[in-house]
Amino acid sequence: MELQRISGDVYACLQPDRGLGTSNSGLVDRGGGLVVDTFWDLPHTRRLRDLYGRVWKGPARRVVNTHHNGDHCWGNQLFPEAEIIGHRLCAAAFGKESPEFMQALRNAGGSDDPALAALARRLVDWDFTGIELRPPTTLVDDRLEIDLDGLAVHLLYVGPAHTAGDVIVHLPEARVVFAGDVLFRLCTPIGWEGTYARWMAALDEIVALEPELVVPGHGPLSGVEGPREMKAYLAYVRAEARRCFDADLSVLDAARRIDPGPYASWTEPERIVFQVERAYREFRGEPHDAPLDVTALFRGMHQLSRERLHAPPALPAGSS
Ligand SMILES: [Zn+2]
Repeated sequence: MELQRISGDVYACLQPDRGLGTSNSGLVDRGGGLVVDTFWDLPHTRRLRDLYGRVWKGPARRVVNTHHNGDHCWGNQLFPEAEIIGHRLCAAAFGKESPEFMQALRNAGGSDDPALAALARRLVDWDFTGIELRPPTTLVDDRLEIDLDGLAVHLLYVGPAHTAGDVIVHLPEARVVFAGDVLFRLCTPIGWEGTYARWMAALDEIVALEPELVVPGHGPLSGVEGPREMKAYLAYVRAEARRCFDADLSVLDAARRIDPGPYASWTEPERIVFQVERAYREFRGEPHDAPLDVTALFRGMHQLSRERLHAPPALPAGSS
């Protein structure tokens, strides 16, 4: 992971790999300090805290969780002096994911089930032991403004987009937005409770704030081209998924059929299974928080990545 000073007293901590759980964090080192998101386990969050400790004036007194996924808040306990701040629906969803369950998955590398064993292999860098969930106790509804010794920090509710309780963190003077997982940059997004329309509107809201820098939940820093491109991706996948839905294709067949087009270089392409399922959920007229069959979706992702790995190379155009 890498600490970058992005503006005055504002820092980002970026985890370069764009795979499962490698999220980003931020620090505003002013007025007692404010951290945006912790990491997925205690070892990674200890390294984060050590990096912040090199620059901060003192331990941060506030931690904002942009949403409830573990890779953004399971390190909260390592900031024991901090007030934890998040959206009401983020706090309500805290128990939905369990560190013990993730540790059991992580330890399932010897399983006879190839999808489970593959998932376990992707989790070996993580250690979910010892995590005590510390949900937000200062709750955001629509917005919350914090004054850090003259520097304004605006927490804005933009959900349900990627999850029900999505909050973005806007620093108007610094012209920085911490987007949480409303923005995945150069990696395929994965989403939970929310709608395509709301997610695209949330990306529009980021652009309308005219930031110079956007810190995504996953992937490298961007300007407003990041949220613009991701909005185009969502519109593209929704339109393609609609054609597949109308043709009665299964979610997995739709995911196979949809050409990644201009997004072919994004990592984790198999996550499109999640996006198609979310689109189908809307097309079926189900609520935005109807539960997803996560096990089936991860199996679908595994299947898709195996097929791509073993697919014959594409023939050049014009060959027969
Ligand atoms: Zn995330």
